[in-house]
Amino acid sequence: MVAALLLIAGTLNEISKATCFSFTGRVVCRVETAEPLVALTFDDGPTTVGVESVLPALKRYNAKATFFLVGASTEIALTRRIVAEGHEVGNHSFTHQRMVGHPKAFYDDELRRTDAALVSAGAPKPTLFRPPYGKKLFGLPIAVARNGQTMVMWDSGDAPDRYPKAYAAEVLADVRPGSIVLIHPMFRSRETERQALPLILEGLTRRGYRLVTVSELLRAGRA
Ligand SMILES: [Zn+2]
Repeated sequence: MVAALLLIAGTLNEISKATCFSFTGRVVCRVETAEPLVALTFDDGPTTVGVESVLPALKRYNAKATFFLVGASTEIALTRRIVAEGHEVGNHSFTHQRMVGHPKAFYDDELRRTDAALVSAGAPKPTLFRPPYGKKLFGLPIAVARNGQTMVMWDSGDAPDRYPKAYAAEVLADVRPGSIVLIHPMFRSRETERQALPLILEGLTRRGYRLVTVSELLRAGRA
């Protein structure tokens, strides 16, 4: 009996981390398209060190990207800069907790407060949500759908190598048309990701990819 319960708990834990599957709602981990489009996504923050490193790199390659920002960390000036350069801003929860096993009101509150923080910082109301730690099970996907948002996971970029060149090479090996790449550039400790970004941008551009927001990728996928 105990073994069976542990097996069920373990299985649910694995499913909660699945990047392309959810019992409820809709989860997007990549988009079916023949066009050479890739969406880079940046999680957490915003922080000054992250934004000041990422924005100039994107601009140099004429790339548009999607930033999944945390409501409680939404610094107005940084958010405005991201939006002003034509990037998309998505909801990454308000308090960045594991969003599994909470009551309905908790999810609704996390989503609503973050939307409000981002809108008051000058962003359009987000249509995309990314779960903290990629964790979701039953209640969160339903709340995200109820809030009119699409849950966006990724198919590339997770678990970076310690070395920027190796990390960039991993991403470039994984990416195909329609890929969604997850990058964590915001925290001070994430120097590897920040140094890898220009290498990723250079490699993707050289392979003929155009770098677009997740919403643009979703539109291309439907066409
Ligand atoms: Zn996060």
